[in-house]
Amino acid sequence: MRVIVTGVAGFLGSHLAERFLSDDHEVIGVDNFVTGSRQNTEHLSGFTGFRLLEHDISKPLFVDEQIDGVFHFASPASPVDYLELPIQTLKVGSLGTHNALGLAKAKGARFLLASTSEVYGDPLVHPQPETYWGNVNPIGVRGVYDEAKRFSEAMTMAYHRYHGVATRIVRIFNTYGPRMRPGDGRVVSNFIVQALRGDPLTIYGDGSQTRSFCFVADEVEGIYRLFASDRVEPVNIGNPVEFTVRELADIVLEETRSRSTIDSLPLPADDPKVRQPDITLARELLGWEPQVDLREGIRQTLPYFRDELARHDARARTI
Ligand code: NAD
Ligand code: UDP
Repeated sequence: MRVIVTGVAGFLGSHLAERFLSDDHEVIGVDNFVTGSRQNTEHLSGFTGFRLLEHDISKPLFVDEQIDGVFHFASPASPVDYLELPIQTLKVGSLGTHNALGLAKAKGARFLLASTSEVYGDPLVHPQPETYWGNVNPIGVRGVYDEAKRFSEAMTMAYHRYHGVATRIVRIFNTYGPRMRPGDGRVVSNFIVQALRGDPLTIYGDGSQTRSFCFVADEVEGIYRLFASDRVEPVNIGNPVEFTVRELADIVLEETRSRSTIDSLPLPADDPKVRQPDITLARELLGWEPQVDLREGIRQTLPYFRDELARHDARARTI
């Protein structure tokens, strides 16, 4: 197969591309580097089947080659990023999804949308099954991401219903692992970087809010299986084991043996109070469930962040 991965220089896109290349498929990676890095695609350049296109997918994309799959992963994903880039986030979720779907339609390719647990907003149903319609504040600060993703799901279903495109939608729940940008602001990367540096861990609010953290290798396996399946409606892919943010801080402190203290900062607006995927569908349809628990995933992630911080410090010394 030859597949297109938008957002290839980001955290998830780079892992997904690596998975396809390792299975001897070809990958055309598309990115405008707004939140991604060239470093994230360096290891992909070692594969002969990889080609990188610097392009903003909010503008139409034409390629000459036959394409079998389009994975639309381009979008700022960290709340810090999408609050800084509200218009770009709305555009890549709407225009970008339209362009990626148009490309899939023109090529007769299968399409997979990276959607999110954020479509459930601050959920009133817990855990969240795919049948839950969500509780999103459309005019709140997070609305730029949540509503863009809800629109992108609607656009994907419309291309399926009206144009017959073979579409898949994955609702991804908080995923972490190597190649997250150390400064991207998400909780796992923040806590690990702070713990390794001996800085205080920044807990927003009282830390009683919950998230369910999935290791990247598990997430990519679930997405791979969903792509190969015939399921059109959205499927949750995430780790159903739920932690408070305070529990996550304690685990990071233990795994890094850090003596960092805790700083309490205000809770951001509309921050969901709970989040936990119901993965019954993924278990039944895809035979998938996560294999890596949070402690093990953090252990597997630490060497990457240690290297990143050492590289950053070495660069700072030469300036
Ligand atoms: P990321 O920020 O690391 O990667 C996103 C990539 O998309 C970056 O390389 C960025 O430069 C690129 N991009 C953004 N706008 C673009 C545009 N207009 N044109 C081309 N490239 C563009 O984020 P991530 O964690 O890898 O997330 C990837 C996808 O998965 C996103 O769509 C995100 O919404 C979704 N998702 C991720 C998580 C998670 O926990 N990581 C959870 C839910 C959903
Ligand atoms: N959070 C925190 N400290 C940080 C970063 C995030 O306490 O330094 C909290 C945040 O308020 C949220 C949770 O951790 O309740 C997860 O935040 P993240 O930005 O990783 O993703 P979200 O799930 O909110 O999209």
